[in-house]
Amino acid sequence: MNFCSNCGAPVEHRIPPGDTLPRAVCGACNTIHYENPKMIVGCVAEWDGSILLCRRAIEPRYGLWTVPAGFLENGETTAAGALRETLEEANARVEIDGLFALYNLPHINQVYMLFRARLLDLDFGPGAETLETRLCNESEVPWSELAFATVRNTLIHWFNDRRKGEFGFHMGTIEPMARREAKADKRDEPAPASEDPANP
Ligand code: ZN
Repeated sequence: MNFCSNCGAPVEHRIPPGDTLPRAVCGACNTIHYENPKMIVGCVAEWDGSILLCRRAIEPRYGLWTVPAGFLENGETTAAGALRETLEEANARVEIDGLFALYNLPHINQVYMLFRARLLDLDFGPGAETLETRLCNESEVPWSELAFATVRNTLIHWFNDRRKGEFGFHMGTIEPMARREAKADKRDEPAPASEDPANP
């Protein structure tokens, strides 16, 4: 941010009194512009052991597969946002069973919250931001063409939990690409997230 969204004057980046981090502070009207992580909400939507996947028609990761998910809007609950994104991206109606996965992505200031859900019917299809929708069982998931490590990890957990006959809650942190590459030395394969030991 270079200019104040309240009055249009240039902002300066400094630590306000009583704060601990630099903020964009307006020199004219003294408004402090806080910037906080964005929430991404979506659904792992099941039909008879298969999961609804969407092939992205937008950047980033155009052409790769994901679960229906997107940015939470102001004034919206996380579950309502997940339902909305599922309808927008896959024209799919679902019922939410519960929160399934939470991933922190501190290096890009995002938090993913993905819900476990059941498709109410098979009348789905690509929305404006989707090239193609597909129901995939575990062997049909395009594992090498998934858009995000969050999606990969979530799907791995989902199929594992389904085999066990019990769905848990999974929380983890996705590391920056550079650190992952240094650790794993595998450029094309998203490394698994570090899972929070308190939430196996
Ligand atoms: Zn201002």
